[in-house]
Amino acid sequence: MTGVSRLVRQLLSAFGLVALACTQAPERAAPRHLIVVTVDTLRADHLTAWGYARGTSDAAGAAKRGSAAGFTLDELAAQGVRFAQAYTPRGETFPALCSLFSGKPPPETGVLGNRETLPATVTTLAERLKAAGFHTAAFTTNKLLVPGSGIEQGFDVFESDFGDERDARVLERAAAWIEAQPSGARVFAWVHLMGPHLPYEPRPSGGVDFARLFADPAYAGTANGSREYVDAAYTQQKSLTDTDRARLVALYDGEIARVDQLVSRFAGRLAQPTPSGASTLDDALFALCADHGEELGERSGYFGHSKSISSAVLQVPLFLRWPRGVKAGLVRDDVALLEDVFPTVLATFGLAPERGVRGLSLDRLARGERDERFAGRVAIGLWRFSMFSVADARHRLVFNPDELEPDEIPPGPYPIPAFALYDRAADPRETVDVSERDAARARELQAALRAWMRGLTPSTDPQSPLSPERMRALSEQGYAGGEK
Ligand SMILES: [Zn+2]
Repeated sequence: MTGVSRLVRQLLSAFGLVALACTQAPERAAPRHLIVVTVDTLRADHLTAWGYARGTSDAAGAAKRGSAAGFTLDELAAQGVRFAQAYTPRGETFPALCSLFSGKPPPETGVLGNRETLPATVTTLAERLKAAGFHTAAFTTNKLLVPGSGIEQGFDVFESDFGDERDARVLERAAAWIEAQPSGARVFAWVHLMGPHLPYEPRPSGGVDFARLFADPAYAGTANGSREYVDAAYTQQKSLTDTDRARLVALYDGEIARVDQLVSRFAGRLAQPTPSGASTLDDALFALCADHGEELGERSGYFGHSKSISSAVLQVPLFLRWPRGVKAGLVRDDVALLEDVFPTVLATFGLAPERGVRGLSLDRLARGERDERFAGRVAIGLWRFSMFSVADARHRLVFNPDELEPDEIPPGPYPIPAFALYDRAADPRETVDVSERDAARARELQAALRAWMRGLTPSTDPQSPLSPERMRALSEQGYAGGEK
């Protein structure tokens, strides 16, 4: 494309006229629908596609998990572009998803934690798509993602299910809602699944006993995946044996395998041909990511995510699938952020960019093209506005200038170094601080953090106190110790 035609395209898309302009440029065609699946607490490195040795999401293990062949998470990712180095800005559900749906980091949305509300002044992806004529619906399973939190902005339909079979039910509701839309309608459906979040107690599904799927049948200990068990072990600093910890990880992985089954069946259902030809799935941009990952006892015996700024929590799976516009089989190592999804959707659908968005559109990377804006890019993660993580594709800097310790419940030690650099290529578990050896790199990442801070436009919206309902929801999901 010439420079001029690029300029013209930008102008046209700014006026929403790009569809009229695309007479011969096939890459300008847009998908019809958007389907976003977010999975709570799903660590990237526990998916087989991200290198995990256990078959939580692979094609070969589909039958064992009761997953629909051809639509396992690994296969869906391989049918599109997989971002191997994707990051969330915060290890908590609400701020992470507010950033996902606004394209802005937490200081700019005003949502630094689960206790805040997404201000009405923030423009969300659902609002933009609704304004563009899409039918919009959200199906959530996390009690923090409810009308009144601000995340509902732009959704025509907002349904939640907090029952035992919530993940299966919201996927069923979402599929039924999509199928019930009039022909010709364009839809944006968002489904949030809770599976891998504590408790790690995967229920049987589709004839598969997920609690036993990866468990060692010889295990004779007492470890179980209840919140009470892991919280008590951490707070009392009981040292778990290797087999106890393996038991907990097997249960967490069972939750992931169960999500794989449910999502694969959902995708398989949407892959059925429609009367108009292409299936809903193939006519959609399908995006899957996590809000954050999970600590599985590696640091101070902590199981959870709110306290953490480690890679186990900040690195998340992210992939995009759209057969006509996303190159299948691509794996990108460029640093991608949850904040990139909003601008990516706008670019892919030919909609004008949103002003003030900080994420970058991944559309060029998704087509297999180069995008110089990603050279040397870093992912900033934070705990409130006090502790920071700065990751590039290889290293990660941890900076805790006030030497604080996170104070979320459950109580327990969780020291975070004041300043540390990890070489993730050599030390994926981030156990060896190389900030003295690689002092230059540490300084560069610190400078990147400083530049990011200087460029921030912090939210000035006042935050009102949490409603009793949302306070209760926090407490029920283990994020609040009592009335505060
Ligand atoms: Zn979450």
